[in-house]
Amino acid sequence: MMEKEYLLANMTWQEVEKRLKECKIALVPIGSTEQHGPALPLSTDHYIATQFTHRAAEMIWDEQKVVVTPTITFGFSPHHMEFKGTITLSELTLSSMIADICHSLDQHGFEKIVLVNGHGGNETAISNALHDMHGNIDAKVYHANWYNMVGEKIREIVTPPLYHACDMETSVAWYLGQRVLEDKRVDEPGKSLVPGFISPDMSATRPRASVSYNFKEITNSGVVGYSTQATKEKGKQIADTVLENLVRFIREIAKI
Ligand SMILES: [Zn+2]
Repeated sequence: MMEKEYLLANMTWQEVEKRLKECKIALVPIGSTEQHGPALPLSTDHYIATQFTHRAAEMIWDEQKVVVTPTITFGFSPHHMEFKGTITLSELTLSSMIADICHSLDQHGFEKIVLVNGHGGNETAISNALHDMHGNIDAKVYHANWYNMVGEKIREIVTPPLYHACDMETSVAWYLGQRVLEDKRVDEPGKSLVPGFISPDMSATRPRASVSYNFKEITNSGVVGYSTQATKEKGKQIADTVLENLVRFIREIAKI
């Protein structure tokens, strides 16, 4: 029986070579190192992305022996720079890094690569990387944000807004084992920049418009949402759904 090892960084090159004869799917967790209010550490986005990929690889092991690369722990976070500790890459650096990682995996023979993202601010860089690679990479590169793997059920589980260090994110991080400074949790729904059109809420209904802004303009604490509402139980409910969908997604792309 094959020893259960899905972390690329823990494998030898010979083990990777052998694994590729069995499975050609690689997962790449992507996050950020940015402020998440007074109750959550700066690692939160990459912590969650890492946990979800590791757990998904664990869950699907009997069917697919996917490999998980080391996490990209920095993301695109200029809008959080007014809060101490945040480290941001430029969008170009991030998309170049993603493309370089994918080209490397492609060169070794990985045929499907799933970028599992935990930070909304990375989405444009990921899209740009996907467009840049299109046509000059053999591997199929997929992009999945964990928060888009939740589905409609989320509205029944958490208190909106869904945005940053909110009820949803705090619950999920907590359940997944992240450090949470429980008594430092705060409720700050965030400021609407154009009422009725531009509000910090991923679950907001349309009509919607957008504008660039710094987080200091919409929140004092760094939180946008109700983190005092967070519980590990809610986190489990959400995480189970995300994992179920992520595993289903991997199962589907394995068939293509
Ligand atoms: Zn986050």
